[in-house]
Amino acid sequence: MRGAADVIVVGGGPAGVAAAVELRRNGVERVMLLEREADLGGATRHCSHSPFGMREFGRIYSGPAYARRLAAEAERHGVMVRAGHSVVSLHENARLTVACNGVVSELEAKRIIMATGARESSRAARLLPGDRPVGVLSTGALQAYVALHGLMPFRSPVILGSELVTFSAVLTCLRHGARPVAVVETLPYALARTPASWFPNLAGIPFFRGAELLDIQGRTRVENVRISHGGITRDLACDGVLVTGRFVPEASLFLSSGMGLAQAAQAPAIDQDGRCANPLYFACGNVLRAVETGGWAFREGRAVGAAVARDLAHPIAAPRVAVTFAPPIKLVVPGYVRAEDTARGALGEFQLRFTTRVRGELSLELDGARVWSRRGEFLPERRVLVPMPTGLQAAQRISFCFREG
Ligand SMILES: Cc1cc2nc3c(=O)[nH]c(=O)nc-3n(C[C@H](O)[C@H](O)[C@H](O)COP(=O)(O)OP(=O)(O)OC[C@H]3O[C@@H](n4cnc5c(N)ncnc54)[C@H](O)[C@@H]3O)c2cc1C
Repeated sequence: MRGAADVIVVGGGPAGVAAAVELRRNGVERVMLLEREADLGGATRHCSHSPFGMREFGRIYSGPAYARRLAAEAERHGVMVRAGHSVVSLHENARLTVACNGVVSELEAKRIIMATGARESSRAARLLPGDRPVGVLSTGALQAYVALHGLMPFRSPVILGSELVTFSAVLTCLRHGARPVAVVETLPYALARTPASWFPNLAGIPFFRGAELLDIQGRTRVENVRISHGGITRDLACDGVLVTGRFVPEASLFLSSGMGLAQAAQAPAIDQDGRCANPLYFACGNVLRAVETGGWAFREGRAVGAAVARDLAHPIAAPRVAVTFAPPIKLVVPGYVRAEDTARGALGEFQLRFTTRVRGELSLELDGARVWSRRGEFLPERRVLVPMPTGLQAAQRISFCFREG
């Protein structure tokens, strides 16, 4: 449908809802929110635990209660919510192909905001060895079983990983009648910060760091996981395996439409306002980089929503300058900077991730001159924030450098 809305937001998680509400608060008349599930809330709908919402709503919610608050906010601000609508392709000129109840149609707007989130990588993507029995799940799948069907699919799983979401998996098991046999991390350290990483030990669950997964065994169901830890081979009798974390952006729509994916991040390449290579498209939330908290995604959505409202009034045509970097830096968001007339973009900081644990000096150079640096230890999957310096938008070369030592 031509002119279906001024702005269409794809994805009704914290980022998408915040962007849609902010557009309405900035006077944009027709804001449509497309969500493929029946309800808004995204990944938070299934997280039965808290904390969600403290910074954005000033109180602590469980995941489902937070999701309901998001839905209420969208309604209160007059967002046109279209649940059960899956976007299946993106086109030039801000046009989308959308499927709903077996009917495929086209919707067009002045701008599109993509907020499709991230997903945990599957067993296959992690190249885990062993048999292929039933009972290997991600945290998201486990929480959907529990929240939507009241089912706990195992009694004694082994949990792989050590990101924040891993401890969400432990909590979900303990709250719903399962007792994890062990938490297993291949790295010699936990990826989540303390105190979250103390949680398995506090709950009396063995936490093997620096362990190698040798085998997943079982004829029909998972029966055993074999690991090597500290030179000893251990058999962990269990009835399931939870593969947690290693999130990847849900960016397949960008990939299939050939729209500027930042290779390192496997995410849409954006500038400081969340604007994509095609300037009619914007993106926010976990689709930009795996993975952040719900509150972070919400604030990012709100900032990008405000930027889109500005862009509708004053479109920007300035060329983009790429932000360059090399390993061990894994990704930088935003990956581009455009010269604008506003002092600051929607994203006031660069966000970086590292591929591995390193110690040394991280620096930012504009046109070859160092404008910022920090020395220290950097761990994978940990957020590193670098404030955007003055003079950034005039620079022709923007690079992050890392020197070990
Ligand atoms: C198991 C788990 C536990 C967590 N625990 C916490 C916690 O305790 N505290 C915390 O702060 N954060 C937690 N998080 C993180 C938090 O949920 C996310 O950071 C947040 O939901 C990200 O918001 P988002 O809007 O970017 O993406 P999502 O919440 O992932 O929302 C994306 C939405 O886009 C929709 N979508 C995707 N593709 C399409 C399409 N083609 N068409 C239409 N719709 C589409 C999806 O259905 C989804 O609703 C947890 C996450 C997980 C997975």
